Amino acid sequence: MLRCDFCGKQSQVVIRVALDRDYDRLTVKHHKMYACPECSKKKEEERRKKRGAVSGTETS
Ligand SMILES: [Zn+2]
Repeated sequence: MLRCDFCGKQSQVVIRVALDRDYDRLTVKHHKMYACPECSKKKEEERRKKRGAVSGTETS
C-alpha cells in the first residue's frame, strides 16, 4: 500500500507529483511527492492558480 503525501490516506494508486517545475525558482529543491488521484487533481488546480499568484505558501 502506498500513502498519499497530501492527505495521508493510504491508497492503492498514487500518482507521482513533481512540484519542481513551478517551484524551482522559489525552493531550488526538487520535490517529488505522491498523491492519491483526488489530491493529484487538487494539486493540479492549485498549481495553475499559484502560478500567477503569490509566492510559496506550502502546506506541509
Ligand atoms: Zn490524498
